[in-house]
Amino acid sequence: MTGTTQDDYTDRYARRVRGMTTSEIRALFAVTSRPEVVSLAGGSPYIAALPLDAVGEMLNRLGAEQGASSLQYGIGQGTIELRERICEVMSLSGITGASPDDVVVTVGGQQALDLLARLFLDPGDVVLAEGPTYVGALGVFQAAQAQVQHVAMDAEGLIPAALEEAIAATAAAGRRAKFLYTIPTFQNPAGVTLSEERREQVLDICERAGLLVIEDDPYGMLSFESDAPRPLRARRRDGVFYVSTFSKTFAPGLRVGWILAPHAVREKLVMMSEANVLCPSAFAQGAVTQYLTTMPWQQQIKVYREIYRERRDTLLDALDDLMPEGTTWTRPAGGLFVWATLPEGLDSKAMMPRAIAARVAYVPGTGFYADGTGRSNMRLNFSFSSPERLREGVRRLSGVMEKELEM
Ligand code: PMP
Repeated sequence: MTGTTQDDYTDRYARRVRGMTTSEIRALFAVTSRPEVVSLAGGSPYIAALPLDAVGEMLNRLGAEQGASSLQYGIGQGTIELRERICEVMSLSGITGASPDDVVVTVGGQQALDLLARLFLDPGDVVLAEGPTYVGALGVFQAAQAQVQHVAMDAEGLIPAALEEAIAATAAAGRRAKFLYTIPTFQNPAGVTLSEERREQVLDICERAGLLVIEDDPYGMLSFESDAPRPLRARRRDGVFYVSTFSKTFAPGLRVGWILAPHAVREKLVMMSEANVLCPSAFAQGAVTQYLTTMPWQQQIKVYREIYRERRDTLLDALDDLMPEGTTWTRPAGGLFVWATLPEGLDSKAMMPRAIAARVAYVPGTGFYADGTGRSNMRLNFSFSSPERLREGVRRLSGVMEKELEM
């Protein structure tokens, strides 16, 4: 019957599917896209800032010049032209000397995480990850039947002592932690950045423990103040897998990301990707290559940085002015998100329907933890809404919170 949630297939599903639940963020999408709702919920870049006419012309040229090849199958690893451009992009962040042969093009950063999980995780393996962490990575690790062990952060990112404790606790429980999954720069959702000093410490700890590092870096180029600290992969090659994407610097709709991996592993990743998608979209890869070759893409990133800096400032000012006492939040130096902690007694998940009724949306903190914590937190996005809408959103949100506090 259509329209019911009755599922007659439950006992036929593979074990890895059984724990899967709807993403709170995806469930929110339907509501938050209503124009009367101020959405602080999504994670979309502000695509309207792209020179859309020029991008359209570029796509036309791509069709005219490379029609046949951009409509054809390609190789699983991705085109050599794009992999060369990717190495140039990474060198701007300090990852120098990477070989295009060690780059695997993926269908967004999301497929990159999925490939790495398929490659390394057996059911029951432990993944260490910041608490809170990227919701899409949690979905990937859950599908791999791995267990996520969160490691606490503070304003300087992952806390090295907490990482050491988590490694020791995992070993003491007789479990095997395969890797640390980390978003060191402008973290999603917390908005914090791992300090220079801690980068070295975290790498040392992982090396000593024989733990691989998956460094997820979609936001590193979106800094608002000084440049972001150099990626972990720029400091150490062995055991570090670097993942990034063009979703936040160009266009998420094209679904183009990549992994920089040690050479031997790169071959396995390509095989996994071939089993998974055969090859990434030739058209999308052509579009990104053209964009990086023929358009002022670095200038465009500066435009994004300026827009987002202004929006971050607006959001932080509005929070300063309007939030009820007892609320705290992070002050990101880049990226797209602020992470707020609510006053004692408030529950971001329970409050959500009241917020929607007041025409404002956020993502409850519970979506970013594998263990159900996060009820006293929420993620606020500042990349997508105009400064006026951001301020109005915070006004509505604080109204809802004030009422809850009276209850
Ligand atoms: N990692 C992180 C930390 C992200 O925030 C995102 C996107 N929100 C991704 C990976 C996935 O990016 P993509 O759109 O390229 O799949």
